Amino acid sequence: MLPELKRLVDLQELDKIIRGVTQGLEKLPEELRAENAALEEMQAEHNAQTQELEGLQKQKLETEKEVAEMEEGITTSRQRLMEIKSNIEYKAMLKEIAFKEDQRDHKETRVLELMELMEAQKQALAEQDQKMKEQADLVAARSKEVKVEVAKLEAELSGLEKQRKELRKGIPAPLLKRYEFIRQRRNGTAISPVFEGVCFGCHMNILPQQFIDLQKGVEIIQCPHCQRILYWQAVEEGLEEDLSRSAS
Ligand SMILES: [Zn+2]
Repeated sequence: MLPELKRLVDLQELDKIIRGVTQGLEKLPEELRAENAALEEMQAEHNAQTQELEGLQKQKLETEKEVAEMEEGITTSRQRLMEIKSNIEYKAMLKEIAFKEDQRDHKETRVLELMELMEAQKQALAEQDQKMKEQADLVAARSKEVKVEVAKLEAELSGLEKQRKELRKGIPAPLLKRYEFIRQRRNGTAISPVFEGVCFGCHMNILPQQFIDLQKGVEIIQCPHCQRILYWQAVEEGLEEDLSRSAS
C-alpha cells in the first residue's frame, strides 16, 4: 500500500474517534440542560401551588370574619327579642334568627371544607418539596460529574488533535483536500478497503482494470460509484469492523 494511503486510513480512524469525542462533549451539557429544565418546571408548579394555598387561606379568613359578623347579628336579634311585645313581631323575629343561624352554619361548614382543602394542599406541597429537593440534588451531582467528564473529554480531544496534526503532515496537501471533500459527503468515510474487487464503502464492484491497478499499489484510485479513495485488502480479516464503522 502507498504510504500516504496507510496514513490516510490512520487519519480516518482518528477522525472518527475525534468525531465521537466531540459528539460526547456536545451531548453532556444538553443532558444537564434537560435536568435543569425539569427542576425549573417543578419550581414553577410549586409556586403555583403555594399561591393556591394562600388563596385558600385568604378565603378561610374572610369566611371566618363573615361567621363572626353573623354571630354578632344573631346576638343583637336575640337581645331585641326580649324587647318585643307583639306576638306576631316575636314570631317574625324568631324566624329571622333561625334563618341567620342557618346561614351561619353554612359558612361554618365552608370554613371546615376550606381547612380540609388547605390540609390536602399542604400535604401535596410537602411531597413536591421532597421531589424538588431530590431533583436539585440530582442536578448538583450531575453538574459535578459532567464537569469532570467534560474536562476528561477535552483533554482527550486535545491529545487526539495533536496526533491528527502530526498525521496530516505526512500526507500530500491535494490528497488531504480530496479526503476532506469526500469525507464531508460520505458521512465521515472517505477511504475504503476493496476486497475481491468490491468497494466496502458502497458494496459495488470496481472496474477490473482498477482492481489490477489497485493491487499494484502505485497510484491513488477512487471508487467509480461512491468516489471513495480505495486501498486493497488482500484478506477479509478486519473488514467486518471497517464495514460497521463506515455504516455508522
Ligand atoms: Zn464505492
